[in-house]
Amino acid sequence: MPGDARAHNRALVLSSLFHAGPLSRAELARATGLTRVTVSDLVAELTSEDLVQDTGGRTETRVGKPGALIDINSDGHMIAALDLSDTSTVRGALMTLRGKVVTRREATTNGATGAAVAEIAIDVARGLIAESREAKLLGVGIASPGVLTPAGDVVYAKDYGWTDFPLAALAGAELTQHTYAANDANVRALAEFTFAGASAEGLMEVSLTDGLGAGILLDGLLLLGPSNAAGEIGHIPAMVGGDPCTCGRRGCLETVLNKRVLEAAAARGEDPALGREEALERVGTAAAAVLAPIVSAFNLSDLVFADPRGLVTDDFVAAIRAGLEERLLPQTMDNLDVRVSELGADAGLLGAGALVLAERLGLT
Ligand SMILES: [Zn+2]
Repeated sequence: MPGDARAHNRALVLSSLFHAGPLSRAELARATGLTRVTVSDLVAELTSEDLVQDTGGRTETRVGKPGALIDINSDGHMIAALDLSDTSTVRGALMTLRGKVVTRREATTNGATGAAVAEIAIDVARGLIAESREAKLLGVGIASPGVLTPAGDVVYAKDYGWTDFPLAALAGAELTQHTYAANDANVRALAEFTFAGASAEGLMEVSLTDGLGAGILLDGLLLLGPSNAAGEIGHIPAMVGGDPCTCGRRGCLETVLNKRVLEAAAARGEDPALGREEALERVGTAAAAVLAPIVSAFNLSDLVFADPRGLVTDDFVAAIRAGLEERLLPQTMDNLDVRVSELGADAGLLGAGALVLAERLGLT
């Protein structure tokens, strides 16, 4: 079997087990469209690499012969994941293939920029790798702010002063591990699909971190665009006039919907006299002005808010939904689920883990 086809078939088997496992060999053959012989051959290979395992469970087959149930060997490898989206702290975790966090490490950046931040991140990764001890390491994943190429070079990340910075290559060379880096909002969208069971057919995950960015999954693929900046929606004008933005203009979505606004809204919750309803309506109207055309253009089914600080409340989501309802056809709204991600503060770390699974194992 040519190498490319074999890699493709391995990815098919692993993806089926990851999303629908445990499965018998017969069920795997049906799910992947591969022959029973090919499936058995691949299962043997993946078992020898500690990527899948016989669970010990059995399924009844129609001919009455019990079939062994195969599943992902979640603890057979570890992933070292880094989240750089909070510019004050590098967060790291060692996790299983199914995203169960085994241990955590973090380091403050103390305002460091340039190569110094990368060194802090590499140190955190080094500590995690040391703690993985005898477990095999599948790779290192980095969720970074900014625009990144598929090779993990940072085109620019304003907060860290990175321009054309080879983040993945540098970390990979120092750590001597397979290392991948991608935009943090993009990998949060991947995590929603890989670890939270979301559909990848039409999903936008809006990340409410220090800035605002989004990751878009369309027809099973992460949308990057010709200059890798798809989902950079923070500086689309959301209202006429409005507050000044870091980009020099006024009223960008990021000025209406960000950590500060959410913290202020949360504080207003304790004192209704401060106009919580008006504040929510303002956010809902402005957010919908930017998000509705995107939902409509891509026929999205899932609009998810990644909220690492737990600041997004139900009435906030309701306000955005109401804003969208004013702008979208009822048929589009009927097909749209607006919600807050259940991945919480770990969405960035899980995204970095999902990135490694996608790059190393072809998991989709
Ligand atoms: Zn702006």
